[in-house]
Amino acid sequence: MHSTIQFHIGEVLMGGDAPVVVQSMTNTDTLDVAASVAQCERMVESGAQMVRLTVPSMKEVNSLAQIQNELRRKGYTVPIVADVHFNPKVAEAVASFVEKVRINPGNYVDKRVFASFTMTDEEYADAVRRMAERARPLLEICRAHGTAIRLGINQGSLCDRILNRYGNTPEAMVQSAMEWLDICEEADFHKMVISMKSSNVQTMIEATLRLHEAMRARGQVYPLHLGVTEAGCGIEGRVKSAAGIGALLLTGVGDTIRVSLTEPPENESPFAHRIVQTVSRLNPQDAKIQGQTLYYTAHIADAEEWMVSAAAMAGYAYYYHHIKDVVLENNTQTPAQLDELRAIILQACRIRMSKTEFISCPSCGRTQYDIQSVVNLVKERFANHPGLKIGVMGCIVNGPGEMADADYGIVGASQGLVCVYKAKEKLTNPIAIPDALDMLEQLIAENL
Ligand code: SF4
Repeated sequence: MHSTIQFHIGEVLMGGDAPVVVQSMTNTDTLDVAASVAQCERMVESGAQMVRLTVPSMKEVNSLAQIQNELRRKGYTVPIVADVHFNPKVAEAVASFVEKVRINPGNYVDKRVFASFTMTDEEYADAVRRMAERARPLLEICRAHGTAIRLGINQGSLCDRILNRYGNTPEAMVQSAMEWLDICEEADFHKMVISMKSSNVQTMIEATLRLHEAMRARGQVYPLHLGVTEAGCGIEGRVKSAAGIGALLLTGVGDTIRVSLTEPPENESPFAHRIVQTVSRLNPQDAKIQGQTLYYTAHIADAEEWMVSAAAMAGYAYYYHHIKDVVLENNTQTPAQLDELRAIILQACRIRMSKTEFISCPSCGRTQYDIQSVVNLVKERFANHPGLKIGVMGCIVNGPGEMADADYGIVGASQGLVCVYKAKEKLTNPIAIPDALDMLEQLIAENL
């Protein structure tokens, strides 16, 4: 695979022949400096080599600076990444002191209100020009301070302009990335990392590889950040992440990864390191494909290493060989354990949906309710609806878009309250969680 360009993000070397960097994100309120510092410390101790914090508004800018100062005072040199949506002023304010700013091209200047419209080529080019003008101050600040930028493209938050022209497709994600890449290169800014995330394993693999190819064709490949968004939690979230991230690492693509789990953030990095280490020992040729079935045999005693190996091999075979089934053999596992892992892998790749599909975000400082408990309640109560997709999302700002293909969803609104969605339609004002679960049950029963 064509090598990516290399640069430092704070103390971390990114791209080229550098080891894959593991990163994670806090879910504390960024205004709560003490809680955020404590969580960052736990994340670093658990293996995070970069930590990201949300900065929803100007209010949090000062807190982020305090968090960074406090971590430095305590001897933590981990690069700090500011996660910014919607507000260019916030990105410009943090870019002078953090090591990296993550922006989402789908909502940074551009808008998403699910509106349908057509644009002439001239109108379209004008919109891109306006975006470029609005991006310039940020790029100048980043260049002056050596700050990196992540262009974080998410399938669930592409802007209306892109969606109306390219549909909700991997190609639309590539177009969104490439127009920002043009904007940055025209401003002579090259310290970029790009991610192409989706909760759909196939889509995140395809979008990432298409982007890699598009950059290679232009002669400059920027480092790629890999992740399956809204992967959920428990074994399902881990298998989905291992299938998507593992397939790309097996292809030789990926410079940094984040495993997104609806669990305490300090659970993410140990598993991310596990993916990196396990995949480095795998070879796709060690599995056999007959017809449209993957046969994978490996007598790996460590249950997690086995799970990652099987999921990564399956994700790879699913993408490149369009397999429709998986047969697993491992003499350290019982037949029941092998059957269960097979079912979870087939579900993660959406080859065979044998139970309800849960899509849930990892939560962040925007979340104002106990999402981890609610996900567990939802999983318990709605476990047996094969093919049905239910989203549980932390915030109303990004949640509805990010659970793009869910049939139903619960989305955090204000303190302790959530809204119920049917696909993209909001059905309620903010209500209490028990009421939302009852309503979900009624809706599902009515539509069975
Ligand atoms: S959807 Fe979840 S992770 Fe994404 S911004 Fe909202 S709370 Fe944060």
